[in-house]
Amino acid sequence: MTAQIMDGRRVAKALKDEVAEEVSRLRGHRCRLATVMVGQDYSARAYERRLVRVADELGVGYQGHTLPASSAVEDVLAVIGGLNADPRVSGILVLRPLPAQVDEALVFTALSPYKDIEAVHPVNAGLLALGTPRFMPSTPASVFYLLDSWLDEVGESRPEFYHRSTIVVVGRSNNVGKPAALLGYARQAVTVSCDEWVSRTGRLAEVTSGADVLIVAAGVAGLIGAEHVSPEMVVLDVGINPVTDPVEGAVHLVGDVDFAAVAPVVRAISPVPGGVGPVTDVWLMRNTAAAARLIMAASS
Ligand code: NAP
Repeated sequence: MTAQIMDGRRVAKALKDEVAEEVSRLRGHRCRLATVMVGQDYSARAYERRLVRVADELGVGYQGHTLPASSAVEDVLAVIGGLNADPRVSGILVLRPLPAQVDEALVFTALSPYKDIEAVHPVNAGLLALGTPRFMPSTPASVFYLLDSWLDEVGESRPEFYHRSTIVVVGRSNNVGKPAALLGYARQAVTVSCDEWVSRTGRLAEVTSGADVLIVAAGVAGLIGAEHVSPEMVVLDVGINPVTDPVEGAVHLVGDVDFAAVAPVVRAISPVPGGVGPVTDVWLMRNTAAAARLIMAASS
């Protein structure tokens, strides 16, 4: 038996219609996304290209700022300060990874909490941890949006599913893994999270095999194989890893899950590409529009 495929492109399309309507209600007023990239990371550039396209489709304004990889933290803070003060910009996204000399915590704390659409500022991260989010960070929110959409499609009650489920999140970064676990708590599922030590201590399969829902956000191509999953499991693959084809030399993107090995043995799976990613892009625009509305409300 082969797993059902959780089609992120189709789900993103429905979400797009909703966001486009909200953006048109704002009449473009201050609904503008600004990205800040330091250096030329392959995945960050690919993400930026996707955002340019989606912003254009949805009528959201967009401006990209790219700084050299050698930038000092002060250079990045100066750009952030300018964007905080710019009334045309409603949402700011700092693309990761940042180079080692740029302290991520300093950069995130410098963001205006009203424009911090990824909830990385300590105030927004705190609100999320308390279960009263101002913004739901786009990637973990999209994981659950995709999962909720799939539950609706297969006719399972969301509360009943979550209340009897164990969610295991592999990866514990501040922007993906940790908030994904918080969204699992919010659904009152048993939620387990782990980081690289679970692999280093040889317990990855032991921990993942207890999951009803497995969310993988480690950034390690093919980390999850058939030995880590079970037949009733729903697997959401967040990983986006550039891999060079040894024969053709072309770079393509793969997930953290070995799709060919896992898809035949689980209940449902999100592919890479075409799973969580497309929903994330639209969710970011949703948050940009929400920020525009917040700023309008605060200034009226
Ligand atoms: P990150 O900041 O590098 O964090 C990776 C996390 O995974 C860390 O907690 C790390 O543990 C853990 N980890 C690393 N190797 C592991 C292993 N072998 N076993 C178990 N855990 C392991 O990465 P991120 O920003 O969270 O992103 C994760 C992946 O998602 C990347 O591939 C990224 O490109 C992708 N991503 C996708 C989207 C999307 O829209 N689909 C959005 C953002 C990111 P330690 O804490 O111990 O280091």
